Amino acid sequence: MIALIDGNNFYASCERIFNYGWRGRPVVVLSNNDGCAIARSNEAKALGIPMGEPYFKIKQLEKTHGLVVCSANFVLYGDISNRVVQITRRYCNDIEVYSIDESFLFLDGYSDQYQKMVDLRRDVLQGLDLPTSIGMAPSKTLAKVANKIAKKFPDKTGSVYMIDSWKKIEAALKWFPVEDIWGVGRRYSEKLKSQGVHTAWDFTQFPDDFLRQEMGILGLRMKKELLGEAQYGMSISEPKKNISTTRTFDTGHAEYDYVHERVSTFASECARKLREQKSCCRHITVFIMTDRFKQNQVQYSDSFTVTLPNPSNSSIEISKYAKKALDKIFIHGPKYRKAGVITGTFVPENERMTSMFDVDNHERHAPIMEAMDSMNNRLGKQKIKLASQDVQKTWKMDQKHLSQRYSTSFHDSIILQA
Ligand SMILES: [Mg+2]
Repeated sequence: MIALIDGNNFYASCERIFNYGWRGRPVVVLSNNDGCAIARSNEAKALGIPMGEPYFKIKQLEKTHGLVVCSANFVLYGDISNRVVQITRRYCNDIEVYSIDESFLFLDGYSDQYQKMVDLRRDVLQGLDLPTSIGMAPSKTLAKVANKIAKKFPDKTGSVYMIDSWKKIEAALKWFPVEDIWGVGRRYSEKLKSQGVHTAWDFTQFPDDFLRQEMGILGLRMKKELLGEAQYGMSISEPKKNISTTRTFDTGHAEYDYVHERVSTFASECARKLREQKSCCRHITVFIMTDRFKQNQVQYSDSFTVTLPNPSNSSIEISKYAKKALDKIFIHGPKYRKAGVITGTFVPENERMTSMFDVDNHERHAPIMEAMDSMNNRLGKQKIKLASQDVQKTWKMDQKHLSQRYSTSFHDSIILQA
């Protein structure tokens, strides 16, 4: 049996944990720069606010319907997510953290599986004040379906639903829309609908040969998963093959200092991602380019790749070599609109082969990087920087409605008055 635990309207629910008064009120979380809605409480959904709705279109609801808007606070959500995983581990060690608000639990070998999931849900609700839904089924794809049922019918299911018989599989699939099947994209579901396939059940009626021909092995696996034959086990996240940070600037910039500061920040961000997945890189590529839509301006773009003397994930080291690469390609005159840093050729951190002749800074930098990461985790990304990154300027996002980091920062804790 595989269970999927999923936070209900996760970001919006996280915001509510610390604001008791927001219960029962519509809550919307906005994307970076307060652009558009990325999470909605049930009340906000009931107001008809669609996912992705731009903020300016719903602003008036703040006055008319008591809508609460929050800027996305990923430090808070990440912390709550970790706490959910901690509680989940009390019930099951075989867990695959699938996303910030979803984890698969592999329950084979555990006793009283259904009751355990009921208890888990209750613990998360009591411990964190976070509502979740749990779906249980013989395969991951069906666990997703069971989860949707738990979420859709909280009164009937108590938000925990188990598909454990052929009768339940059939009933669930006949209810489940084809476009919501895990792995069926919107475009493909349009095609399926035009062929008269509307539910997951319809999908399972395709003959195996037809599916293999039309969708390849993935289509066949999808059918088997839906019919309760597990095709996917626990996936251990594979390290990414390359990591890059690329940005378009607000406007064209000709000054070296500006471009250098940006490249240094991107390099530092790549290094942080490398440390996160415990890899080191051997190569760094830096590219810069002008705005190709402004044909009346000088056009220029170039890139340069440097090989590091030793594989590294130190922000100091990677920024240093990114500067060397930048210096090879930067010319004065053009207005640069975009730059990026790409790191490649990874080796696991604990299997680094070092050159005998070059100074290896890894061991020297490791404690500094560890301190930098742990402070940034607590204070928010990019609070602790290298001197080559901007010091005066702050690249602050528009986050006018940002909630406090209640659970990760002492300065942001809630003050109680007794
Ligand atoms: Mg969710």
